[in-house]
Amino acid sequence: MPQSAPAINPFETAKRQIDIVADLLSINDGTREVLKHPKRELTVNFPVRMDDGSYRVYTGYRVQYNIARGPSKGGIRYHPQVSLDEVRALAAWMTWKCAVVNLPYGGAKGGIICDPKHMSQGELERLTRRFATELVPIIGPEMDIPAPDVYTDSQTMAWIMDTYSQEKGYSVPGVVTGKPIAIGGSEGRGEATGRGCAYVIREAAPHAGLKLKGANIAVQGFGNAGSVAANILHDEFGANIIAVSDSKGGITNSAGLNLKAVEDHKHKTGSVVGFPGSKAISNEELLEIKTDVLIPAALENQLTAKNAGKVQAKIVAEAANGPTVPEADKVFFEKKITVLPDILANAGGVTVSYFEWAQNIQGYSWTLAEVNERLNRVMTESYARVHEVAEQRKVHNRTAAYVVAIQRVVDALKIRGFFP
Ligand code: NAD
Repeated sequence: MPQSAPAINPFETAKRQIDIVADLLSINDGTREVLKHPKRELTVNFPVRMDDGSYRVYTGYRVQYNIARGPSKGGIRYHPQVSLDEVRALAAWMTWKCAVVNLPYGGAKGGIICDPKHMSQGELERLTRRFATELVPIIGPEMDIPAPDVYTDSQTMAWIMDTYSQEKGYSVPGVVTGKPIAIGGSEGRGEATGRGCAYVIREAAPHAGLKLKGANIAVQGFGNAGSVAANILHDEFGANIIAVSDSKGGITNSAGLNLKAVEDHKHKTGSVVGFPGSKAISNEELLEIKTDVLIPAALENQLTAKNAGKVQAKIVAEAANGPTVPEADKVFFEKKITVLPDILANAGGVTVSYFEWAQNIQGYSWTLAEVNERLNRVMTESYARVHEVAEQRKVHNRTAAYVVAIQRVVDALKIRGFFP
């Protein structure tokens, strides 16, 4: 019987990436070992009462990968495939993402092995509150600040904030971000990832020989990140959105799509497919369409050795996490396609999470204009630094982003000194 290829362990991938950058930066073996180990890990098995009166035991994890630059930050996901190594890898990537945009944070991630699609709201609330109780000793505004991730949302964060606050005896809004505005969430958090991505594209365009006004844009995954980026690129920078897609397929119109009408159509029918006046294309075709900017904003592993050679864009901006496999990166570098890597291009979300936390601990809230102005500054400065390192070292932007991030973490480790 043919054997399926063993699944790639994401933490092994994360450690390989550290080695590549550590070689470039001539980081010594001891520091390299520190970078390749999570600082603190919690594994917890806990019972949850189900709606039918039975009890089930769930397993949850929280990994605080590195706290050299500040409290750790990262989402919590609910998914049947959650594993400790996946959480470790995601926590390492959060460390680099926070560092590349220079937030005063380390990185963390959490998860529960569960199937949220087959759980009631009541079961999800009991699962969340029981997990939050287990997290109380290791989370907090000065220690580790969770946020939403796959299949968790602002309601999940509200339950965690409430459970933590009950334990403390007073309200602690800064213990989580991605909260509803009513309990200390930030203006602009919902659209921050797409907005940050649009700002990074704006900064990269001149270096890629592209004028954004009138440029053509294709977006794979017209969800939160993708649709916000598309709307801002059109409304604020005058770009032309020529193709979008979702899980059911894609649509194109070389004259430009009316995004508000596409959103209405998606709202009514559940998909962008069938939008009047557009031509149907597959998700694979969308990636290879003639466009100036391609924004993968859906899933990982979309741009591979198979299709990278057919990509016609000048810029690939990764709103999604991990859409490009390393073989495709090589092709893009050779073809002089500018890649804006995920840890930079989608860091707008964690940046406004940081703003939310900063507002909470100040007890003061900012206007939407203030949030967007500060986000603009963070994304502009971060792109400039990554671009500068890419030019200096003659490496692609992904390596440059890792160099910037890992160097910042190493600087923090060194200046603090290794105890004792
Ligand atoms: P979302 O669920 O709002 O949107 C995802 C979109 O992708 C949906 O339109 C869905 O229909 C589409 N999709 C699903 N399968 C597809 C397929 N096979 N082909 C094409 N499209 C498909 O999710 P989101 O929050 O916009 O997240 C999208 C990506 O951005 C993810 O990789 C996520 O990790 C990343 N990201 C999001 C945030 C954030 O704040 N929302 C922050 C950082 C990274």
